[in-house]
Amino acid sequence: MTMDGARRVIENGAIAVRDGRVVAVGPVSEIDRSYAAREIVNATGKVVIPGLINGHTHVPMTLFRGLADDLDLQEWLTKYIFPAEAKNVTEEFVRVGTRLGLAEMIRGGTTTYCDMYYFEDAIADETSKAGMRGVLGETVIDFPVADNKTNAEAMAYVEKFVSKWKGNPLIVPAIAPHAPYTVSEEHLKAVRAFSDRTGAPIVTHISETKREVDDSMKARGASPVDYLNRIGFLGNRVIAAHMVWPSEEELGLLKQLGVGIVHNPQSNMKLASGVAPVPEMLKQDLPVGLGTDGAASNNDLNLWEEMDTAAKLHKLFSKDPKVVSAEEAFEMATIRGARALHLDKEIGSIEKGKRADLALVDLDALNQTPFYNIYSDLVYATKGADVRTVIIEGRVVMRDRRLLTLNEETIKADARRFREQIIRSLGAKTVPED
Ligand SMILES: [Zn+2]
Repeated sequence: MTMDGARRVIENGAIAVRDGRVVAVGPVSEIDRSYAAREIVNATGKVVIPGLINGHTHVPMTLFRGLADDLDLQEWLTKYIFPAEAKNVTEEFVRVGTRLGLAEMIRGGTTTYCDMYYFEDAIADETSKAGMRGVLGETVIDFPVADNKTNAEAMAYVEKFVSKWKGNPLIVPAIAPHAPYTVSEEHLKAVRAFSDRTGAPIVTHISETKREVDDSMKARGASPVDYLNRIGFLGNRVIAAHMVWPSEEELGLLKQLGVGIVHNPQSNMKLASGVAPVPEMLKQDLPVGLGTDGAASNNDLNLWEEMDTAAKLHKLFSKDPKVVSAEEAFEMATIRGARALHLDKEIGSIEKGKRADLALVDLDALNQTPFYNIYSDLVYATKGADVRTVIIEGRVVMRDRRLLTLNEETIKADARRFREQIIRSLGAKTVPED
């Protein structure tokens, strides 16, 4: 399944890979004739898809999975997440949570993710060691956080972080101002200037809740999009998560500016943030991808669920079963998601010249049988557990469901150790048994 411009699906197809890139895609007879391979990965009876793209997450937050549920965004953030982060987030926490998230994502066929967190340099280190691809944004926020106590410290960190990882084949270092309501105008302008100077993408949250829009109107007489545009913040390196509440005119503006958008249907549903106008975004051909958001608000990092949920949520909300088709949902997790991350020249489809990021997916599980239509089968019936083998930058990182770059048992033991620490830090008198 190429997801190329013609949306070619090649039966009995093969892919030739050299030095991390796809050098040819076509019928197996043709590829066999033209190439001799040192290693052959047999995909008989399976579908080879472009690796899935998780356009928005906070990967170490896997360690807060299930810590506080069934709350609205403000209460969830201010009463639980920010305090838990203040007491627990260290570089070691970030490394353990990242390894957990990476293992979960690779198991589900995700080959690229876009992140925003603290100690992002440690996240980049773990990500590159695991052989995973990431657009990784170091957080800039106007209060003291785990790794940086002031804006000056954060900007110095980002400067070093970006110059260290720039040009790495797997890591795109980025700057991540948390949101227009947690970062001042002056600091947002400095972020934009930094991005202009270094070419680093800007990862941020925009227009997530109605309250954010109402507060912005009250404070500045402008919506978040309007305000960010007015201060010159928006542009074609911005990756905006959520975008639940833009007006129709704002969608046109976002398209014109080339802002990437990441839709997080399950997180938006769980926090009751609202329903993003995704059918309209697709109609206007905006670069909109899919994300899981952090595991604390989802509670997993599974793109298959996001595809399925995106397709169904918008049908229900718009009372129209024709919107967000299975093919469109699959596009959002692959090539359109690559556009949202401004990486569509490199990833998102299986084409000559692109990075060899591939997932081999079973097609004969009970839940996939019988088979009529590939998009329908993948979006509505396939589960993360149906992914068998994952290749990133030409390297096999999971073979036949066995992770080759990460140790699952160690990861789980480390995560359980942090769970006890987190419970104690929040003042619980006893640590509940598993
Ligand atoms: Zn987020």
